[in-house]
This record gives sequence, structure tokens and C-alpha cells, in this order.
Amino acid sequence: YAADDSRQSIRVFQPDMNQVVQERLRLENDLRDALRTNKLHMHYQPQVGSDPDTGLLGLEALTRWQHPELGNIPPAKFIPLAEESDLIDDIAFWTMDHACRQLAQWRSRGLPIPRVAVNLSAVNLQNPGLPGKVAAILSACKLQPCDLTLEITESAVLHPDQTIGINVSALHDLGILLSLDDFGTGYSSLGHLHHLPIQELKLDSSFISDLEHSTTAQILTRSILQLAENLGLHVVAEGVETEKQREFLQRQHCNALQGYLISRPLPPAELERWLARQD
Ligand code: C2E
Ligand code: MG
Ligand code: MG
Ligand code: MG
Repeated sequence: YAADDSRQSIRVFQPDMNQVVQERLRLENDLRDALRTNKLHMHYQPQVGSDPDTGLLGLEALTRWQHPELGNIPPAKFIPLAEESDLIDDIAFWTMDHACRQLAQWRSRGLPIPRVAVNLSAVNLQNPGLPGKVAAILSACKLQPCDLTLEITESAVLHPDQTIGINVSALHDLGILLSLDDFGTGYSSLGHLHHLPIQELKLDSSFISDLEHSTTAQILTRSILQLAENLGLHVVAEGVETEKQREFLQRQHCNALQGYLISRPLPPAELERWLARQD
């Protein structure tokens, strides 16, 4: 009987597994297709100084995928899919190329945009061809290394992989600004990070959203900001949604703010209208 039961459960289970695998395979193929036919697009989210006189400091480029049948698929879904297939490098280079060209085009039209930030996945940092490709994209767009920020995660830079270490140093040596994304969600302390060639921290939105009702979040945020200041690190707060959060961050000398309070991530034409309203 036991053998029969297990056969039965396999028969019942298999169609579902097939469905999951097939759906994944379909999405992966569609993503490959979207990349090849230029169907991904970028949104740009402003980062401004917490001191209102500072103005625009840069834009974060965020990748968007509008699937023809399934509608908008968020990066939280397609980035992991790309990481597990062979598509993540293509996405990184497509995104970097797109964002750099957009920045060059805006500049040529006289729009004062200081820099653009692009997200990299840990998998991208394992590609030995990364620094060369970044340099090639910058020079094709006639941009300087200081025009580009690359956002990398704690888990990537603390990964004991030689190529990652070599790449991080090479990108830094090129003159590219490296920013640690989602800071505070990983396991590292600032102490672990002081030897890494990183110039900026992005304080994770979980700290910011807790600021108003959690004294612990306030204490943590204050000490991270103090330590970062002492280490000469630039800090961007992510997910700033309220005036109260802005006031707190400004009082604590957080350098830059990013979040819906300032603007949602916007397609290029809307970003231009946002810029025009800033006088
Ligand atoms: P991230 O780099 O931490 O980007 C910030 C995310 O927070 C974005 O989500 C943005 O839309 C969202 N956000 C910004 N301000 C606010 C706010 O005030 N409130 C709230 N609730 N959310 C806010 P998005 O665009 O869905 O991207 C999610 C993540 O996907 C990004 O997190 C980034 O890690 C990743 N990602 C996006 N584009 C790329 C890409 O081209 N390559 C790679 N490797 N990762 C990407
Ligand atoms: Mg980011
Ligand atoms: Mg982030
Ligand atoms: Mg985040």
C-alpha cells in the first residue's frame, strides 16, 4: 500500500511542478525576448540634498518590464529570474547603456543632471569582463566615470569571491562612485566595511519607515549617520515618504533623500517635467 500511495502522490504532484517550471521557462524566454527587442525601459528617481538649497544630486535608474500579456512585472520578480538564468549580465549592460545614453542626451540639451546610479547584482560582480564593459559604455557616451554610480549590496561585497574583490577595486580605480544599497539589512557593520572602496551608503527604507514610531530606529539611524559622517561616507536615505522623516534626516545631517515625498521613479519625459518644476 505504501508504494501505491507514493506513486499516487507523485502523479498528483507532478502536473503542478510542471506548471511552475513551464511558467518560469516562459517568463525567462519572454524576458530574453524583451531584452533582444528593446522592450525593457527605465524609470528615474531623483535624489536631492536634505538641505533644500542643495537641489538635485542624482537619479537612480530602475528597470521596468511591461509584459505584453501579464502587464508590469516588478524587478523583485524578474531580477531573481535573470540572476538564475544567463540574463543578468545582459540586463546590467542594457541598463547601464540606456541610463548613460539618457544622461548624455539630457546633458546635451542643457539639463543639469549631476549623475546617474545603476543597480548591480552580486552575479554581475562575478563577471571578470565587468570593468572593461563599464569603461566602454562610458566612453561610447562620452561620459566621465564620476557621472556614474554603481549600487551594490552588502552581501555582494562581503562575498568571499576573488573576482568580486578585483572588480570592486577596478571599478573604484576607474573613478566610479560605489554605493552600498539597502544598508542595514545585511549582517555587516560599518566596521567591516571601512576597508572597502565605497563612498556612499543607502540607508534602507525599513529604517526610514520606522522613524516616526520607533525610538530604536531613530537611535540606529542617528548612529549610522554619525559614524558615516566620521568615516567620510555620503548617505542617501531611501523610501522617504513623509515631511517628518525629512525633518529628522535633515536634523541628523543625512546628505541625500530619495523617496515618494520627493518623487516616484518616473519615465524620462515625466522626469523632465519634474525637473522643470524645481526652478
Ligand atoms: P532598490 O535599489 O533599493 O531601489 C529602491 C526601490 O524602492 C525601488 O523599487 C523604488 O521604486 C522603491 N521606492 C522608492 N521610493 C520609495 C518610497 O518612498 N516608498 C516605497 N515604498 N518604495 C520606494 P523597484 O523599482 O521596484 O526596485 C526594486 C529593487 O529591484 C531595487 O531596489 C533594486 O534592488 C532592484 N532593481 C531595479 N532595477 C534593477 C536593475 O536594473 N538591476 C538590478 N540588478 N536590480 C534592479
Ligand atoms: Mg538601488
Ligand atoms: Mg536601495
Ligand atoms: Mg531598498
